[in-house]
Amino acid sequence: MSAATTAASSGPSPAVMGTYGRYDVVFDRGEGSWLIDTKGERYLDFGSGIAVNALGHANPKLIAALAEQAQKLWHTSNLYRVAGQEKLAERLVATTFADKVFFCNSGAEACEGIIKLARRYQFASGHPERWRIITFKGSFHGRTLGTIAAAGNEKYLEGFGEPAPGFDVLETVNDLALVEKAIGPATAAIMVEPIQGEGGIRACTKEFLQGLRALADKNGLLLILDEVQTGVGRTGKLFAYEAAGIKPDAMAIAKGIGGGFPVGAFLATTEAAKGMVPGTHGSTFGGNPLAMAVGNAVLEAVLEPGFLEEVQRKALRFKQLLARVQDEHADIVEGIRGEGLLIGVKTKDKVLAGDVVKACLAEHLLTVGAGDNVVRMIPPLTTPDEELAEGVVRLSRALTNAKKQVK
Ligand SMILES: *Cc1c(COP(=O)(O)O)cnc(C)c1O
Repeated sequence: MSAATTAASSGPSPAVMGTYGRYDVVFDRGEGSWLIDTKGERYLDFGSGIAVNALGHANPKLIAALAEQAQKLWHTSNLYRVAGQEKLAERLVATTFADKVFFCNSGAEACEGIIKLARRYQFASGHPERWRIITFKGSFHGRTLGTIAAAGNEKYLEGFGEPAPGFDVLETVNDLALVEKAIGPATAAIMVEPIQGEGGIRACTKEFLQGLRALADKNGLLLILDEVQTGVGRTGKLFAYEAAGIKPDAMAIAKGIGGGFPVGAFLATTEAAKGMVPGTHGSTFGGNPLAMAVGNAVLEAVLEPGFLEEVQRKALRFKQLLARVQDEHADIVEGIRGEGLLIGVKTKDKVLAGDVVKACLAEHLLTVGAGDNVVRMIPPLTTPDEELAEGVVRLSRALTNAKKQVK
C-alpha cells in the first residue's frame, strides 16, 4: 500500500511527529473558498490555512506566477541580488511606513528577526544595555525559543527549560499605565499584535496603539507590530496599523503575503534598521525567487484598485449575517469580534469553542479555534457573497448541534 493510500484511508500516519491534534481529513485539491477531500467531499474553507490563503485556493494568477518562475529559476541564495526580492521590497516600501525589508520564510522567523533588529538598533544607538522587549499575555509570535518566551504562554513554554531572557510580558493589552510602569533603563522596544489572533481576536484599541507610539517616542524605544495574521488586507486595510492612525518602527508579516507559499518578512524604517549591517542576520531560503514570484502576485492583487474596499464591503455584510446568528443563538454566543475578515465568534463558557469547530467540520465548514473560547472565521478575502452567506448558515446549524451536547 502506498503512503498516500495509507494516509487517506486509515487515520493519521504515526510517521508524522504528533505535535498536532489533527482532524482525520485529507484534502486533495482546492478551488477558491472550497477544499475537496480525497473522498470528493467539498468543504467551505473559512480557515484559509490559518489566515494564509488570502486569495483562495488554486488562484489562477498565483499558479501562473509560480509556474512561470518555476520554469526559469528556483534558488540562488542571498549571495546574489534577487530581482523578485527587490521588486517586492520596493512595493512594500511604497505602500507602508517602511524603508527596508528583510525576507524570511515564516511568521516566527519574522518575529525572531525583528527582536534581533530591536536589540541591534539600541546597540547601534550606543545603548547596548537596552535589550529587553515589552510584550503582552495572549500574544502569539511563533514557536521558536525566542518567540515562545516573547509571548509568555506557559502552555507553549512547558518542558523547554528556562525561557529565553529579555522579555517583560505584561498581563494585558489596552492598559497604558501598565506599559509605562514596565519601561526601564533596559527596555529596547514594545512588541504587540494590533489584534491578537491566536489569543482570540482581541483587539488593541486605537487609543492604546496611539499611546504606545507616544510612549515609544518619549523613551527612545521601537514600536514593533506583529502583523503576521492581521496584515495584507485581512482587516480590510492593507495593514491593521493604518486604522489606528499610527506608524510603527518595525513590523513582522507572513501568512497572507505568500497566499499559501511560505513567505515571511520584517519591515523597518531606515533608522530602526540601522543596526542591521552585513553579517548581522541571514537566511538561506529567505526571499527566494519562487517565494518572491508568489509574494509579488499576491501583493499586486491586493493592491488592485477596489480590492480592499471590496473586502470592507464583504466584511460588513458578513458581520451583519453573523449578528443575526448571535441573536438566534444568544444562549451560547457571547459576541462577535474582529475587523474585516478576521472574525471571532466568542461562545459562552458552557460551550467549548473546540466543540463548535468540530460541529462546523461536520457541516463541512472549516473554522479555526482560538484562545478565550473563540471560533475564528477567516475566509479567503476573495470569498463571494453567497459563499459567505452559506458559511453563516452552516455555522448556525453547527451551533444548534453543539448546543444539543450541552447538558
Ligand atoms: C501565525 C503567527 C505567527 C507565527 O507564524 P509561523 O509562520 O507559524 O511561524 C506569529 N505571529 C502571529 C501574530 C501569528 O498569527
